[in-house]
Parts: sequence; structure tokens; C-alpha cells
Amino acid sequence: MGGNNRKFKKKATTMNKTILLKTRPKGKPQQSDFEFKDIEKPSPKDGEVLLKALYVSVDPYLRGRMRDEKSYIEPFQLGEPVQSAIVAEVVESRNNNFKQGDFLTGMMQWQQYQTSDAKNLRKVEKEQAPLSAYLGILGMTGLTAYFGLLDIGEPKEGETLLVSGAAGAVGSVVGQIGKLKGCRVVGIAGSDEKTKLLKNKFGYDAAINYEKTDDMTAAIKKAAPDGVDVYFDNVGSYTLDAAMNNINRFGRVINCGAISLYNETEQPTGPRLETTIVKKSIKMQGFIVRNYEDRFPEGIQQLGKWLQQGKLKDEETIVEGFDQIPQAFIDLFDGKNTGKMVVKVY
Ligand code: NDP
Repeated sequence: MGGNNRKFKKKATTMNKTILLKTRPKGKPQQSDFEFKDIEKPSPKDGEVLLKALYVSVDPYLRGRMRDEKSYIEPFQLGEPVQSAIVAEVVESRNNNFKQGDFLTGMMQWQQYQTSDAKNLRKVEKEQAPLSAYLGILGMTGLTAYFGLLDIGEPKEGETLLVSGAAGAVGSVVGQIGKLKGCRVVGIAGSDEKTKLLKNKFGYDAAINYEKTDDMTAAIKKAAPDGVDVYFDNVGSYTLDAAMNNINRFGRVINCGAISLYNETEQPTGPRLETTIVKKSIKMQGFIVRNYEDRFPEGIQQLGKWLQQGKLKDEETIVEGFDQIPQAFIDLFDGKNTGKMVVKVY
């Protein structure tokens, strides 16, 4: 009996799980593409902290890192832990800049406990916002909405802003900022619950459920009778084509993402856009939020201020349990989230 207890105790103090990329997904990611592994809980060396993961962000762009392709960010290696933005608690510190009980955020591994020199992590305060918000509205997705819309889209009062992926983490913030700038805002999302949310919570003027719409060009025309001045594209492909059929002269198209293509093994071809771009003097620009790294403090400050003033509403889908991380990621491609998808680990 005593021996069993000792064995149990030892296991409890050293237990640490990690999630590795086992195979590169073909099409939609599957649970079998990931492997759970029990590893030793590490000890921090001089200058390091021991971190306990609290909230893990799952994001569509991680799908791109699962391909063995050169991109703006390194691909994940097979057999290595997957990484994403995480909020973690310092449980032991041998680093003079951080103490036990501090909360840090940045890129970390899908691992319950890990050590870090914390050079690329930043401290966040739970008194200022719920910790999960630093992964969403006050983190990468909020900043993507802020800089993409305001810097590239340059929305003006009275203009029509169209947003796809409108009920998601980026889209829900884009629409609300559009309203703050005085635009008429039209959203596209994948269910009636989401289109209701767009209108009732985020103040969208009109919303289209693409899952129930055969003719997206006609649906956009109806929802945006004066045409589209700014299109914030999160999904790409046929939705982009339909938006371009409704674009106004001097329209701006912000290519933020193309989630409808991320799991395609063959990329579909579409209509040629160049004549529309020329004839209508369209500005079409892609971007990566990291392009704005120098200005992140400005974005976080403004988003935080709007949140505090109640001018922005935060929406999150929080899934519980470390073991749920891969499924939460897979569920992004089935639209199971509204707002930011986050996994609460502890
Ligand atoms: P979301 O919170 O929007 O989650 C993904 C959503 O995409 C789902 O909820 C689903 O909503 C929709 N979706 C999934 N599959 C499809 C499909 N085949 N066709 C149309 N819609 C689909 O994710 P994020 O807000 O984090 O990201 C949104 C987009 O922004 C992505 O394309 C992402 O890659 C991009 N992005 C780009 C960044 C940059 O720096 N450029 C930074 C961050 C994100 P629904 O139910 O409506 O279908």
C-alpha cells in the first residue's frame, strides 16, 4: 500500500503532458495528426522561469505551419511540440525580471509546464483584463482587426464595410471598429445563430448566412445596396469573388486570410480580377499582423480603451481541458467558435 502511494506521489509531481505534431494533415486536420506524450516536468536553469500554461490560443494560421513549406513563419517539425500563443503563470523563477505568480504571454509550446528565458514573452495583468483576452481582443486577433482595417482599409464615415468570417475572433472586432468609424457594416458568417449575434451583439447593420445562400453576389448586393467600399476578407475564394462583384470605385480589399482554402489539396481557380482592379481603381493588399509589431502598444492601448468604455464587446469560445487543444483547433474549420477560440488548461 505504502509503496503504491509513493509511486502515485512521484508521478503527480513530475506529470507533464505535451502535444506533438505526428503527421502533416492532409485536408482537414484530424486528431490522429497529433500525439500526446508524457514527459518530465523541467526545472528552470539560471535566468529561466518555469511556466504553467493557463490559456492556449488555437488559430487558423497554425494550419499553414503544419505544411512543410517555406512561409513567413517556420513550419512545425514532425515529432516536435506544436506552438501557439499562450498565457502562462510563472510557478518558479530564476529570472530577475519575473517572479512567481506573474502572468506571461507569447509563443509557447502545447505543454502543461515548460521553461523559458522569457526573452520573447511579455507580462500581462489579470486586474486589467481577463487573462484569455490577451490571446484575442487584446492580442493577435484584436491587433489584426485594428491594423488591417484602419491602416489598409482606411474606412470613412458613411462607407459600406463588408466582413467575412464576421463572427470569428478577427471579424467580430473588425465589424465593431467599422461601426465606431461610422460605416454601414455587413457581415458574412456560417449560421443563423452567428448572423443574429452579428446584429444583436456587435451592431452589424446586415448579415448573410453563406451556408444558406446560393448566390452570394446577389445576397451582398441586397445587403449592401450602395456597393462595398471596404472588404475585409478572412475566407478568400468564392466569397472574395462575390465581394469583388459588388466593389465600388476606389474600394479597398484587405486580404487578411483565406480559411476556405487552408485545407484544400488543390487550389480552385477563380475569375480574373485585374480588369475590375484597374477599372475601379481598387487597392487590394495582404498583410501579416507582425508587420505592425512596432505599433502593437498603440493598438493594445486603443483596443483596451474601447473595451473599458464599453465601445467594443469581447466574444470568446472557451473550451476546457489540455486534452481538448487539438479538437478545438480542428473545430475552427467547422465554425464551432464564435469570437476567439481559447482552451482553458487549468
Ligand atoms: P475565427 O475565429 O474567425 O475562426 C475561424 C472561422 O472561420 C470559423 O469560426 C468559421 O466561421 C470560418 N470558416 C471556417 N471554415 C470556413 C470555410 N471553409 N469557409 C468560410 N468560412 C469558414 O479565426 P480568426 O479570427 O483567428 O482568423 C480569421 C482569419 O484571419 C483566418 O483566415 C486567419 O488565417 C486570418 N488571420 C490573419 C492574420 C494576419 O496576420 N494576416 C492574423 C490572424 C488571423 P463560420 O461559421 O462563419 O464559417
